[in-house]
Amino acid sequence: EGALYVVATPIGNLEDISARALRLLGEADLIAAEDTRHSARLLDHFGIRGPLMSLHEHNEASRIDTMVARIEQGQNIALISDAGTPLISDPGYRLVQALRERGSRVVPVPGPCALVTALSAAGLPSQPFTFRGFVSAKAQARLEELERSVRSVGTQIFYESPHRIRAFLEALESLVPERRVVLARELTKTFETFLDGTPPELLARIEEDPNQARGEFVVLVEGAPALEGQQEHVDIEAEALLEALQAEGV
Ligand code: SAM
Repeated sequence: EGALYVVATPIGNLEDISARALRLLGEADLIAAEDTRHSARLLDHFGIRGPLMSLHEHNEASRIDTMVARIEQGQNIALISDAGTPLISDPGYRLVQALRERGSRVVPVPGPCALVTALSAAGLPSQPFTFRGFVSAKAQARLEELERSVRSVGTQIFYESPHRIRAFLEALESLVPERRVVLARELTKTFETFLDGTPPELLARIEEDPNQARGEFVVLVEGAPALEGQQEHVDIEAEALLEALQAEGV
């Protein structure tokens, strides 16, 4: 029996590919890639010529049986996505789940991941943290998701596209205008920047320098103060007690 190797690839800087990733990609009987044309360029750069098969959101379910059969026949398949670690806001979960259920071998080959890269250098508490991935592209749903998220204790981590970064910050501004937010942009690339400030401060920065709204983003939002939730609870209880005492005429 073969195995599925879940292989992380660079999120920008090609030097970030691991020696193990290169060896396993070179040895694989098949490389399953989100976008075969995009991955062909990456593999070409490293002189790897394994056969490619597409595996994306829309065909993942229908490809599972083929992949499982190939692995049962002894083939080794490498799964890669366009950038970073597969399954992290990328396809692959259903395939991995199906293989695990059958007791097949699934081997992680770790490497770049934008959320971990951002968290490791943002200067916000790195524990606990919650990874939220992409929030909805629809304004109302996005606001509701963010509203729930900013009530959590611990750093909240989001992925966002350049088209929606302003709308995202505006939503945050309406919910938590004083919270610290870090925009981690173009990680590992030439124009890597970390912008740190409150939502209105960051919106002003983008306004004065529109280049700051270009490229790829991880947004990190400071968590809710640990005691805020509990303090509110204590206040409500104290108030209820006071009212009860007053009603008793104490
Ligand atoms: N699987 C990837 C990973 O391991 O991070 C993430 C894939 S997701 C489809 C793409 C999103 O990840 C981008 O929209 C952006 O939010 C984030 N991202 C990827 N590369 C990045 C980079 N170099 N700098 C900042 N964010 C990045």
